[in-house]
Amino acid sequence: MDEMTKALPLQYVDGPDYCTVRDAQGKDFALTMQPALMKAMEAALSAQPAAPVGELRDGPCFYCGEMTSSLAGNPGKWPLIFCQPDGTGRVKYHHTSCVVTRLRAAALSTNPGEQG
Ligand SMILES: [Zn+2]
Repeated sequence: MDEMTKALPLQYVDGPDYCTVRDAQGKDFALTMQPALMKAMEAALSAQPAAPVGELRDGPCFYCGEMTSSLAGNPGKWPLIFCQPDGTGRVKYHHTSCVVTRLRAAALSTNPGEQG
């Protein structure tokens, strides 16, 4: 946890001209005329931080709930990390095997002759 994430969640107190933003401890943090922008920034800060390039990343599989394993001998246990369609930048982990199973089911449902 760095200093910034310790301040979260922020509190927004609307005033006549400005919105006062307070940190999680209730201390004044900022004044803003654009609380929506501030909330978007807070959402981005609260999102799971991206790991440095090259760092192994594992997490619970979105589909089956079991942990992915970057070091597994079975490539089906490796993680695939996709951002979510809600635009928040949050990511979820998926086993390669869970994704392939669903891709294959989707392919077969649209093209039943595909057996590859
Ligand atoms: Zn899975």
